[in-house]
Amino acid sequence: MLRLNSHPSGRHFLQIPGPTNVPDRVLRAMDYPTIDHRGPEFQQLGKKVLADIRKIFQTTQPVVIYPASGTGAWEAALVNTLSPGDKVLMYETGHFASLWKKMADKLGVHAEFIVGDWRHGVDAAAIGARLAEDRNHEIKAVCVVHNETSTGVTSDIAAVRRAIDAAGHPALLLVDTISSLGSVDYRHDEWGVDVTVSGSQKGLMLPPGISFNAVSAKAIAASAKARLPRAFWGWDEIIEANKNGFWPYTPATNLLYGLSEACDMLLEEGLQNVFARHRRHAEATRACVNAWGLEILCQNPSEYSPALTAVVMPEGHSADTFRKIVLEHFNMSLGQGLSKLSGKVFRIGHLGDFNDLTLMGTLAGVEMGFALAGVPHHAGGVLAAMDSLRAAASQPSLRAA
Ligand SMILES: *Cc1c(COP(=O)(O)O)cnc(C)c1O
Repeated sequence: MLRLNSHPSGRHFLQIPGPTNVPDRVLRAMDYPTIDHRGPEFQQLGKKVLADIRKIFQTTQPVVIYPASGTGAWEAALVNTLSPGDKVLMYETGHFASLWKKMADKLGVHAEFIVGDWRHGVDAAAIGARLAEDRNHEIKAVCVVHNETSTGVTSDIAAVRRAIDAAGHPALLLVDTISSLGSVDYRHDEWGVDVTVSGSQKGLMLPPGISFNAVSAKAIAASAKARLPRAFWGWDEIIEANKNGFWPYTPATNLLYGLSEACDMLLEEGLQNVFARHRRHAEATRACVNAWGLEILCQNPSEYSPALTAVVMPEGHSADTFRKIVLEHFNMSLGQGLSKLSGKVFRIGHLGDFNDLTLMGTLAGVEMGFALAGVPHHAGGVLAAMDSLRAAASQPSLRAA
């Protein structure tokens, strides 16, 4: 039975790929009176989070913070840079890339999709080839998802940048990092990204409710000419007010306390260590899935996501029935298959506030759930994950690779 009204003992295992578990330090940081958002105390907080978040995006350029879910930051990226009827080139990596495309269509932008099979990342060569054909430079932006959360596939953003440059094309590069920022190495400046979209509730370990646009000078120049209607999302007034640590309207003050703490945690651990930790947990998860004899949805090993793993259910078994059994017996939520993957895959989130033993608890819950649900598998996946973690632990060089 779902125990909605009683309190199951122990912590809920929220192992969906976002929202992720919010660490106690972040919860405590937000448990504080809301202050005057035009006063001196807020100004210090505003200046601190605006400086810290740039380090997380690996940028020295402005990062705009919205009181909105990631979807709002998607819209902000489009309406600030484009005009009605503009063409954009998008790549079908999965459910989230498809939703972003639908949004572009609704906003009156002509979004062209390079069709994908939901098992591979962005083919930078295909983007380069399409841009090379676009001799009149009608395509104004290339939009791609860094970590496709519906499939567990991570794309090579630096390769997309190189492809755009090799085609000699002036299109802006817009990237969704909603499920990778703070978990997967991401370099806004070094990779020449013009707008990076992100959200609070995945790698940043915060509750849902704030989202981001990291912007380049080229993106800001484009926004001066872009004619899609925008008011709330407009960068200019926000960036202006941010110079003094303020916002033009009431910001999500308590989420910003949390953001300050989450940035402290990530920077104390060291970003490269955070990324290595995620790679280690992803590798142990794949060792486990392989030992179970099940299939990983991502088909290209160089594109395996460090943040989550999507597992293909054996024919004739429903991923949703299995997930329900795991929730009822072990108080653990696993990610569902989205749109065309509904019922066919489940997703193990291994991102955010997460350590070796959280991973072992998660994988043990999955393996026990298989037995209860009668899902055919080989026992011993959990042991394989333990071996993988033990091997990594005894090689300190791997820990901070
Ligand atoms: C979660 C997610 C979104 C949607 O974000 P919301 O906060 O739910 O609006 C978009 N893109 C990716 C890659 C995501 O993981």
